[in-house]
Amino acid sequence: MPTQTYFEMLEMLQAESHSHRPGRHRHVCPVCRLTLQGVDRFMHLISLENVTDVDMRLQLRASGGFCNRHSYEWLKLNDALGTAIIYEDLLREATKRIEKGEFQARRAGLFGRPAAPGNPFSPCPVCLHQEEIENRVANDFAEGFAEQPRFREAYAAPGVAGLCLSHFRRVVSRLDGTIAAELSSRQQEKFGATQALLRQIIDKMDAGRKLEHADEEAKQAARSIGEEREALTRAIWQMAGLEDIN
Ligand SMILES: [Zn+2]
Ligand SMILES: [Zn+2]
Repeated sequence: MPTQTYFEMLEMLQAESHSHRPGRHRHVCPVCRLTLQGVDRFMHLISLENVTDVDMRLQLRASGGFCNRHSYEWLKLNDALGTAIIYEDLLREATKRIEKGEFQARRAGLFGRPAAPGNPFSPCPVCLHQEEIENRVANDFAEGFAEQPRFREAYAAPGVAGLCLSHFRRVVSRLDGTIAAELSSRQQEKFGATQALLRQIIDKMDAGRKLEHADEEAKQAARSIGEEREALTRAIWQMAGLEDIN
């Protein structure tokens, strides 16, 4: 049964496929995009329920708060009361643990130097939730690609920028046989399209350099990057995922 996430992805791909050039506006890895949306929703939910959700408060205590990335995401929510309640608790807890000497090096053994203390905190609850969302979205993508011809067709459109490398790996590892091979060749096409634009940029830069004796204006004109500039950011997210995904 196709899920709501499947239909959201199909809609995104179809919208992208109507424009001839990838990378414009919202043309980004669909798994990155839906994952980040899910994380954002989760953080809003924590903010809404901060006073009442005992379980989340306990999790945050165990993890010593959010990880660095999610701490600053949290700060952007501008939730003064929620931040005050959660962090008053976290700081009190940390102070107690300092008092107990918990973070100090363990006493030296007979010969060795003092052992460095290990990380006493459990993983960030938002990171754990993100991992769940990412798996679910990658699953829905894989199922859609394997079972729905119109999803495959939408993904194949040249206007679709495709998955980032990390999410391609997640999805393709869930597929086999000809379907895995088909997704792989689509992915090669998507990366190939970006490479072609990057080569245009390299050629322009080279051309500018070769005009050694021309005036500055001619050099500038030769070097000016046009629409292909978008390939620079696309290349980054295709290799690293969207900003804040990990
Ligand atoms: Zn991605
Ligand atoms: Zn985190």
